[in-house]
Amino acid sequence: MRWRGRWPRWRIGSNIRGEEAVSEADCIFCKIARGEIDAEVVHDEDDVLAFRDINSKAPVHVLVIPRQHVANLEEVGELPDGVVKRLFEVSSAVAAEAGVTEGGYAVRVNNGRDAGQEVFHLHMHVMGGRKLGMP
Ligand code: AMP
Ligand code: ZN
Repeated sequence: MRWRGRWPRWRIGSNIRGEEAVSEADCIFCKIARGEIDAEVVHDEDDVLAFRDINSKAPVHVLVIPRQHVANLEEVGELPDGVVKRLFEVSSAVAAEAGVTEGGYAVRVNNGRDAGQEVFHLHMHVMGGRKLGMP
């Protein structure tokens, strides 16, 4: 039987939260990964990149991203398992390089509107160098 219904709105260009999909061509973190926009890169490898947050909220504030564009945790399954593991390993390595392993640090993903996600390319904030509270 032919499908006659309407696809839910989030299936067409926007997600369940109504957030518009950003194309890889327009995505600011894809542009950084392609070298089209400058960033203070602190770690660079095949599938994962880390660079300083332009508006740091802690003495150490680095963003760790997969080079492959995925918008958020709802799309994380599109990444190879090894890349997801590397995101955590690189976060730990970046923290060590910045000298905050001993003091401790936060690794945070803002996912969607209520978390204040501004850039819709999955990224992990690695923050340290001062006492950090929740949220
Ligand atoms: P989020 O709210 O989790 O989406 O965080 C996005 C983060 O990206 C913010 O902390 C911004 O300061 C940071 N950011 C935005 N544009 C740039 C850029 N061109 N280079 C480095 N960090 C950026
Ligand atoms: Zn992107």
